[in-house]
Amino acid sequence: MKIALFGPPGAGKGTQAAFITERLSIPQISTGDLLRSEVKKASILGQEAKGYMDRGELVPDELVLSMMGSRLASEDCASGYILDGYPRSLSQAKALDELISLDLVIVIDVEGSSLIDRITGRRMCRCGATYHLRFAPPNVNGLCDRCGQELYQRDDDKEETIRSRLKVYREQTMPIIDHYSKKGILRTIDGNRGIDRIKDSILEAVMKAGGV
Ligand code: ADP
Ligand code: ADP
Ligand code: ZN
Repeated sequence: MKIALFGPPGAGKGTQAAFITERLSIPQISTGDLLRSEVKKASILGQEAKGYMDRGELVPDELVLSMMGSRLASEDCASGYILDGYPRSLSQAKALDELISLDLVIVIDVEGSSLIDRITGRRMCRCGATYHLRFAPPNVNGLCDRCGQELYQRDDDKEETIRSRLKVYREQTMPIIDHYSKKGILRTIDGNRGIDRIKDSILEAVMKAGGV
């Protein structure tokens, strides 16, 4: 099953994608994670992408499309995947339509006022786990439950950058809702609830679409 998960920054895409990955045994493909790993390696792609990410702007299509094209062609994608943070603009959605057809698009809808709290309290681990200082704290303060490494804050999880990311979401990403709604594969989930309740609603939507 091919699923795309989208919603504003901080909506809980990464958190929820991790549950679906576990349940359906399909990989989670996060463009944000892929780009951050290129930045860390200081590859040519990473060097070009960094400035856009620091400013909270979208990385240009020509960089993202080729990165995603090769990721989706990998062997582990044969029986489906969950896209987290892709597509993020109408042009990316159209490019993806040329390549594959999605079975389900889930929007996690969260009120703007909660997003700043969710993002400023987010803490990450290098193993991929995500925590929140108040809403999903680790068992031992500052250390990952899964691997024990020290947690860190993403460079772009600062209030100035968040405002620009929210604006980009409204202006460039939201038009996709209409695109997928016309295709009849869009499901909107109320994200203003606890992590477990959202997870149940998402699994129900996946089940209805024939995925579990
Ligand atoms: P969040 O989950 O908080 O929305 P992401 O980790 O998905 O953040 O993305 C971080 C940054 O990576 C974005 O602000 C943007 O600069 C870049 N990025 C991620 N996905 C895409 C994409 N599909 N197209 C262009 N840029 C992207
Ligand atoms: P996204 O990938 O959409 O940017 P994340 O999954 O990284 O969002 O979640 C953003 C932050 O909010 C993380 O710190 C996460 O632990 C926390 N979080 C996720 N879902 C919820 C929720 N339903 N209620 C409160 N906090 C949440
Ligand atoms: Zn960890």
